[in-house]
Amino acid sequence: MTENDLLESYAGLEGADLLRPLLRDFRGQIAVVSSFGAESAVLLHMVSEIDRAVPVIFLDTGKLFAETLEYRDELVCQLGLTDVRSVVPCAIALRREDADGLLHKTSTDLCCDLRKTRPLAAALQGFSAVISGRKRFHGGERQNLQAVSLADERLKAEPLASFSGLDIANYMHSHDLPPHPLVEAGYRSIGCAPCTSKGGTLEDPRAGRWAGQEKTECGIHWTADGRVVRISAAQGALSSTGC
Ligand code: SF4
Repeated sequence: MTENDLLESYAGLEGADLLRPLLRDFRGQIAVVSSFGAESAVLLHMVSEIDRAVPVIFLDTGKLFAETLEYRDELVCQLGLTDVRSVVPCAIALRREDADGLLHKTSTDLCCDLRKTRPLAAALQGFSAVISGRKRFHGGERQNLQAVSLADERLKAEPLASFSGLDIANYMHSHDLPPHPLVEAGYRSIGCAPCTSKGGTLEDPRAGRWAGQEKTECGIHWTADGRVVRISAAQGALSSTGC
């Protein structure tokens, strides 16, 4: 099957209708990447309804809110997920590159590379397909998101690409999914504590991420044409592999 045939076979599918054939076709070779953030329960619930044993990769950067770790445990328990892998940064690299834990204050790009991009690249070794929960309404690079694409020799699926903020809220409500504890406190998009502020709206939830900086992505995602989004426009390229 050519790459075009592969993409064509999933054309027009989204949500659970896309997840079902993907999880069947890539069984044992596919993983979900989840932040266990404000919108994560929707994708995780869809996956759990099909196969609770699908590997779920969670990047524990060492800078997350305690509430996110509690929420991860709550969702894992409620949804019955059996293979959630909490991935941490390389200890040697942390000592070498961020000994005082303050790298995020001088370079968020280097910090994201150290704590997110490289650990994720290592965790995805051996997987030929990956699923994440980004949506076009998040804006920026995400506006042109495709539900299925090929990037870095891996199939990349975004089953919720066309979902709106209202769709997310309705799905959470109709499936009785618990909100992230910080949503009630005013956070719409939740990443690392030093780089997340309160704010955002239902239709622009990421306004509180790296507030005041050009940066809009942490470096672990792909653009619509398959390029890895690693850096802000102002800075040079960063490596994405190695400890
Ligand atoms: S979001 Fe902030 S704290 Fe987290 S890895 Fe990136 S720069 Fe570091």
